[in-house]
Amino acid sequence: MNVGQRWKNIRYEAEVDPKFVEEIASIPAGQRLFDCIQCGTCSGTCPVSHYMDQTPRKIIAMIRAGFRREVLASVTTWLCASCYSCSVECPQEIKITDIMYALKRLAIQEGVYPRRFPISVLAREFYRFVLKTGRNNEARLTMRLFLKTNLFRLFGQTLLGLKLWRQGRMRLRVDRIKSKRELRKIIKVLDEQLARKKFKAKAISAGEAV
Ligand code: SF4
Ligand code: SF4
Repeated sequence: MNVGQRWKNIRYEAEVDPKFVEEIASIPAGQRLFDCIQCGTCSGTCPVSHYMDQTPRKIIAMIRAGFRREVLASVTTWLCASCYSCSVECPQEIKITDIMYALKRLAIQEGVYPRRFPISVLAREFYRFVLKTGRNNEARLTMRLFLKTNLFRLFGQTLLGLKLWRQGRMRLRVDRIKSKRELRKIIKVLDEQLARKKFKAKAISAGEAV
């Protein structure tokens, strides 16, 4: 890392969010966050850490240091393959994989996920599609993904898509479930529960009675 990059990583106290660690620690998976000894075992065992902009060890350190914006905008959580190696090997039994899931959810809720990064776009579009129809459609989802991330790749993949369609391995027709309204009700309730939990976690980290 050169001097310029190091300088970019320096933050004044006013720029960090000291409540961020409390917020993450208040979720069930985050309870042992303060036990991290920064040994780096998680980063060493992670099969995709060399593609991440921040290693799992750094993510834990940054959460504790209050680097909210940087953690939530990081591509690390989206690259996490949920293999659980880090959680299994961590000497402090920190549930790093579950923390990654929590960070993803928070990033989507706050709209700070990497906008043109395919995995986060795919997650959001999948959610929207299923919310609308109750079913996934691979062809439509792939089209939406390329339209929002890389239009040129859509042209490049059209021929392959057509071949798959001709062989009956890709459907363009959108299937819909009958009880879409019920599905939306369930998702609405879950969203409200999540929002309540988030509000409670924020209140706890702010030291208010809930
Ligand atoms: S393996 Fe566990 S204790 Fe070691 S750095 Fe990772 S989270 Fe912290
Ligand atoms: S669960 Fe995610 S962060 Fe942990 S080792 Fe696997 S890919 Fe890496």
